[in-house]
Amino acid sequence: MKQKITKALENVFIFDHKKNIIESGIVKKIDVFHNEIIIYMILSNPTMHIKKKLEKDIYTTIKNQNINKKIRLKIEMKLFHTEKISKIKNIIAIASGKGGVGKSTVSTNIAVTLVKMGFKVGLLDADIYGPSIPLMFNIKEDQLDSCIIQKNKTGNYVMKPIHRYGVNILSLGFFSKYGQAIVWRGPMATKALRQLIHETYWGFLDFLIIDLPPGTGDIHLSILQEITLKGIVLVSTPQKVALSDVHRSVGMFRIKSIYVPILGIIENMSYLLNNKKKYYLFGKNGVKNFSKKINIFFLGEIPILQKIQEYSDLGIPGVLENDNIKQIFVKITKNILNIL
Ligand code: ADP
Repeated sequence: MKQKITKALENVFIFDHKKNIIESGIVKKIDVFHNEIIIYMILSNPTMHIKKKLEKDIYTTIKNQNINKKIRLKIEMKLFHTEKISKIKNIIAIASGKGGVGKSTVSTNIAVTLVKMGFKVGLLDADIYGPSIPLMFNIKEDQLDSCIIQKNKTGNYVMKPIHRYGVNILSLGFFSKYGQAIVWRGPMATKALRQLIHETYWGFLDFLIIDLPPGTGDIHLSILQEITLKGIVLVSTPQKVALSDVHRSVGMFRIKSIYVPILGIIENMSYLLNNKKKYYLFGKNGVKNFSKKINIFFLGEIPILQKIQEYSDLGIPGVLENDNIKQIFVKITKNILNIL
């Protein structure tokens, strides 16, 4: 029976491997029981769709042999080795106290603005609660297959970012089905992030922008402990509830043992312009006043603009299409560069 199954599995290929899953050593062990077959495998590609396809192919090929036992796959994920991030000059994390204040919008548009200024830029979407970078860059699930995991010169597998609008992008969202919640516990998410940072071929980068999850938590602590950040850029809306959460974040970044410089704070959704009159929906100068009070550089304001929302839903960074948006982000990005 084992031989029959092994023979059947020789019809299954994965990804761009030339060898089938038996030849390439992906299948480690096959156990045959009365009602059940268990196949143990080691896989170097952790993406969901690769796993699903593999499962489907294995079920089909075994069923084709008229074997009517339950099939269980035990897949261990293993990434083969590593190119360090040492070619990255500046790592900057974008943080916020609350979700929904525009942190990912800001990360996206700053990353693209830096590209337009001539820098080499990477973007790591570490927002475990709502990885929205794939949407903002219009990266579809079926485009991930051949890009993420590739062989390097020494024959090992490394992760490769997806290249879009000049930015090298990796997102936690690439590793779960789009639209499904990522229900990783802290340590698992931290492990995944460690791989995204250390086992990714980012190549040479002037800047790696990390879009952090909102708030303060495990992810923040592990990023702060594991990598040397040039600094943090905070994003907040001007109202009190948002600012009180940002205050907590500032507290975390200033803890002595993990101290990391705060480069400044951006006020998003500052006002709405209508008939040349500004309407301060969330209060006037909230972030500006807060930044003075706790001694953080004010990096600039972004009004509420329908176009910002529309472009992010279309998956196009607004700075590429709209002069007004471009000017706002060029100013803010220049301020960040000056502080650096
Ligand atoms: P976060 O990353 O903080 O959760 P997002 O960047 O995902 O927030 O933004 C939340 C929503 O608000 C998105 O739909 C985005 O397009 C929209 N948005 C962000 N900033 C603005 C702005 N200045 N004007 C209009 N819409 C905005």
